[in-house]
Amino acid sequence: MPKNATTSKQIEKLREELRRHEYLYYVLDEPEISDIKFDRMLEELKKLETENPELITPDSPTQRVGGAPRKGFETRQHSPAMMSLDNTYSMEELEDFDRRVRELSGREKIDYVTEHKFDGLSISLVYEGGVLTRGVTRGDGTTGEEVTANVRTIRSIPLRVDPAELKKLQMPANFEVRGEIIMPLRAFEALNEKQEQEGGKRFSNPRSAAAGAVRVLDPEITRSRRLDFYGYLLLAGGRIPTRLHSEALDAMRKLHFKVSPDWRLCHSLDAVKKFIDAWEGKRAKLPYEIDGIVIKVNEISQQQELGFTSKAPRWAVAYKYPARQETTVVNDVIFQVGRTGTLTPVAVLEPVQVGGVIVARSTLHNMDEIARLGLHIGDTVIVERAGEVIPHVIKVVKEGKPRREIVVPERCPECHSHIHKDPEEVAYRCVNASCPAKRKESLLHFAGRHAMNIDGLGEKIVDQLVDKSLVKDYADLYELKLEQVAELDRMAEKSAQNLIDEIAASKNNSLARLIYALGMRFVGERTGQLLADHFASLPKLAEATVVELEEVGEVGPKVAQSIADFFSETANRKLIQRLKEEGLKMTEKRAAPEDTRFAGKTFVFTGALARRSRDEGGAEVARHGGKVVNSVSKLTDYVVVGADPGSKYEKARSLGVTILNEDEFEDLLAGRRKAETDDRTPAQKRSVKSKGKGSSKKASSSR
Ligand code: AMP
Ligand code: ZN
Repeated sequence: MPKNATTSKQIEKLREELRRHEYLYYVLDEPEISDIKFDRMLEELKKLETENPELITPDSPTQRVGGAPRKGFETRQHSPAMMSLDNTYSMEELEDFDRRVRELSGREKIDYVTEHKFDGLSISLVYEGGVLTRGVTRGDGTTGEEVTANVRTIRSIPLRVDPAELKKLQMPANFEVRGEIIMPLRAFEALNEKQEQEGGKRFSNPRSAAAGAVRVLDPEITRSRRLDFYGYLLLAGGRIPTRLHSEALDAMRKLHFKVSPDWRLCHSLDAVKKFIDAWEGKRAKLPYEIDGIVIKVNEISQQQELGFTSKAPRWAVAYKYPARQETTVVNDVIFQVGRTGTLTPVAVLEPVQVGGVIVARSTLHNMDEIARLGLHIGDTVIVERAGEVIPHVIKVVKEGKPRREIVVPERCPECHSHIHKDPEEVAYRCVNASCPAKRKESLLHFAGRHAMNIDGLGEKIVDQLVDKSLVKDYADLYELKLEQVAELDRMAEKSAQNLIDEIAASKNNSLARLIYALGMRFVGERTGQLLADHFASLPKLAEATVVELEEVGEVGPKVAQSIADFFSETANRKLIQRLKEEGLKMTEKRAAPEDTRFAGKTFVFTGALARRSRDEGGAEVARHGGKVVNSVSKLTDYVVVGADPGSKYEKARSLGVTILNEDEFEDLLAGRRKAETDDRTPAQKRSVKSKGKGSSKKASSSR
């Protein structure tokens, strides 16, 4: 077989495997392999495709990644139009609907299908030749915006369907699926938590968050928002290709679209009412929000007879769960520690029935929200459950007597470590890496591919290890015994040994990985590397003061404070000690400098260098025994100024620090210019404004 044909086969096989696993994970929620295995397969496919770009097709699982942001959206016509739904708010209105349907169709008995009314954003997905070619928002119903690149990033939306399945269903390869893009509650909460951490605005509900995530120009944003999709309408040639709506739901499911299993075929209006009642309470347990129930006539021929008004079909109606408000008393406010250590105030309410659900707690989001409400413990408040499931405190209606102020605890309610607050943020947090509230999240981060890279330590395993109290912190991982691991669910003897080996092997990871793996706030992979380069030792890093930390290139006050906060916690120090005892590599041999020409010299870079990146410049400095720091002070020896320098340049000038332009820096590196042996005191340094030979042309000419 020619090489290309073999590769092509190999690629197609990988794609099919990946599609199957995407389906298992994102549509059925029953993964068979770990995330890491999935990623590895995807990497393998990517590699093959990079080597053989002529074999890349748009329906390949690698092609979900967004591509470049666009300038605007194109508009597209819908055919037929995407209709709205008439709303009903009471059982009487629903009876009216049923009466109209029976009168207009001239039938006594009508079968209805009841479905969740997903609270998201409706979308039309167009498939040509079985491949997804277009995703278009509803827009005004007649025309919408084409958001194909964004829609492709949603993993539960198939990029292609199985031709054999189409054939079985007697469906053409050109068809359309309409449905709702939603943001699951978990993703919504995570997004808001992230927004809060980064000082962004909270989204008020999953619907607006989902809509915002679809209607952005950068598909990368859509991808990061973890959206989901549920199909509810199937079209071929502009018509529904089945005899019954229920058959269309089944057909979509067979084509591997996500269809909610929670629909019912109802042979009477009574059955419809029962369904509505049942879900009013049960909906609080769903992983996504619904704002009502959609009722549809099941027979397509009857739908056609009934037709449409100018706005909506006559064969369907939405029953909206009413927004309900109740008053109740705030008995207490407790603080919950989130998966990332953020403290969230939660109102403990005198339990009340709101819209069919007993509400006893309501999140207050953060201290700013409490201030905005003017809330105190003991106050009487209005609690609302609107379309959404999550109850909200709307306002204070009566001040309590007595009333107590709400204060943030000084210690974490879970682990008693100190609570820290970054001055620029609203959130308070626990920074103990082993805090029980963050355990699972921390361990997953620790094991992650870019951290300690422990293959096989995914969500399912971490859940079990933590739930069975086998692992409480990072160090416990290294004490796991083969028998303990082998007893876990879904764990064969061989994979147990593999996991133990993987864990043991991770002890030899680089210091940079370990620093990153600790999970300090604002310390990403790159900062981990910079800290490792600078300190070359974890104990040294742990001892560093904020001032010393800020000497590391790119480490600003916020990051430095976060690192210092982390190591100020006894729990974290103990953890480091234990990791050391377990034999993890705590130091890094620094590449010995080639010479000591710059020994004791500090350099600051500002502006863009033309000949090398700043990193390369920094590496050169280190090669000769010098050090690069981030900010200019009296003690700085050289400020290297590139194009468009920042404020550091001004500061260097005002402090009289030696300024080098790029040529002069290169001369210094090449030894064409001698590093000044500096035996001046800082005071002398300050007083000598310009030292002729040492100052740059730039600096002297502008003076
Ligand atoms: P409205 O936005 O209130 O006019 O309601 C109509 C919208 O409900 C449709 O455009 C869909 O986006 C949405 N919807 C949610 N779930 C369903 C469903 N199961 N069937 C039909 N439409 C639905
Ligand atoms: Zn804690």
